[in-house]
Formats: sequence, C-alpha cells, structure tokens
Amino acid sequence: MRKKLLLGNWKMNKTPAEAKDFALAASEMVDFATSHDIDVGVAPTFLSLEIVKNTINPKCIVAAQNCNENDHGAFTGEISIPMLKSIGVSWCIIGHSERRAYNGETSSACNLKIKALLAANMTPVYCCGESLETFEKGETKSFVAEQIRTGLKDLTPEEAKKVIIAYEPIWAIGTGKSASKETAEDTIGFIRRTLREIFGAVAVDMRILYGGSVKPVNVSEYMSMSDIDGALVGGASLDPASFHGLIEGMLK
Ligand code: PEP
Repeated sequence: MRKKLLLGNWKMNKTPAEAKDFALAASEMVDFATSHDIDVGVAPTFLSLEIVKNTINPKCIVAAQNCNENDHGAFTGEISIPMLKSIGVSWCIIGHSERRAYNGETSSACNLKIKALLAANMTPVYCCGESLETFEKGETKSFVAEQIRTGLKDLTPEEAKKVIIAYEPIWAIGTGKSASKETAEDTIGFIRRTLREIFGAVAVDMRILYGGSVKPVNVSEYMSMSDIDGALVGGASLDPASFHGLIEGMLK
C-alpha cells in the first residue's frame, strides 16, 4: 500500500520571515494530515530551508528544490548535499521543468544528482513531463519514458524504490490548465509500467505524484485514480488555508 503524499513546491517565493509564518501556521494541519496517513511536505528556497526546518512540525517533510552532486568545491551559487544534511534536510526535488528550461538541466545531469542523493540516504523527487508541443504531437509517452530511463539510469531496484516520481506536464504548470484525471492516470500508469520493465516488482511500491495546477477543488479527482499517489503543488501550496484545503481534498 503506497502512502499518499502532498508536497508543496514554493519555487522562488517567500522571504525567510514569510516562510517562518507559514511553518508556524502549519503545525495543526501537519498533524491532521499525518493522522490521516498522508505524508506532507514543503520545498522552500535554500534561504528559508533552515528556518522552516527549525520551526515547522517535525512530522512535515522539508525538501530542497535542487542540489549539486558534488560535496564541495568551485561551484559558485550551488548548494551541496552535505550542506542540506547538516541542517536536517533529507528530501530534494530534482529536474523540475523550470530548472530544465531555465538552467539547462538534462536528465543525465539529474541522474548524477539522484545517485548522489541516494548515496547520502536522501529522498529524490524526480520530475518529468512533456511540453504542449510534445503532448499535441501525441509523443508524451516516448518523451517521458526517455526522461525516466535516463534520469534513473544504473539505479538498482532497491535504490529506485526510494525515488519519488512527479509527472508534471509542462503545459499544466502554473497555467491554471490542469491535465484531466484520465490523462494524468494514463501517463502515470504508463510510467509505472516503464518502471516495472526497468526495475521489476518494486515499481508497484514506488510513489508517483501528479503536478500541474492542482488546487483544493480538483485534488480529489486525481486522488481517485489508482496509480496517482499524491500531488506536487506550486501556487496552491503557498497559502496555509489553501494547503489545508489540499489536505482535506486528498481525503475526499
Ligand atoms: C510545480 O511547481 O511543480 C507546479 C505543479 O506548479 P503549479 O501547481 O502552480 O502548477
């Protein structure tokens, strides 16, 4: 039985003071979620990770939005995995489409980061998803399969089992235009079958999230689908009341 997961991606939003306010406001809702068997987490900017980690209900997952695969060195502007671990952060989003688009991240680069995270006993949340053009050409599945095969290349089944996958069609991120639950389930079911081909039976236990304009009003639709295990949420995760609405929606 796969546990449900709600992960908020705050992107480049909230000062440390604003992030702390959210963390203080979230205490009861984190208890509410975990008591209903839902894992919840937030991914603040690097600057706010420590204040959120130190303030938020300890049952809440705190994730970074990126990391560098090297432990230290001449990588200006980067943050390493030991640095994240030193402040108690053990989850990290990898390969978000915005990083792929604006920072040139490839699936091969993601593969190095995922391996480094796993070697450090951290949990990677690996994002995949196609552009509108790819979707309209009917090439979603081959595109996403390649992202999965390359991003998770050379992982053992035991390692793969520790990775969370987030399927986020780019055309649905921050656009208000969400994929239908059937479209999301179709691709996520395909991703699970691809994982099964590569890693075998562990694919059944791997959590796969949907992301792309998920809101309190539509999250229950995705959660009603058998292969969708939760949501990676941007805009609707920023406000505590909306985050609470997402948790409630996941229970419907
Ligand atoms: C995201 O940032 O991963 C995301 C899905 O954003 P939004 O929910 O705002 O579409």
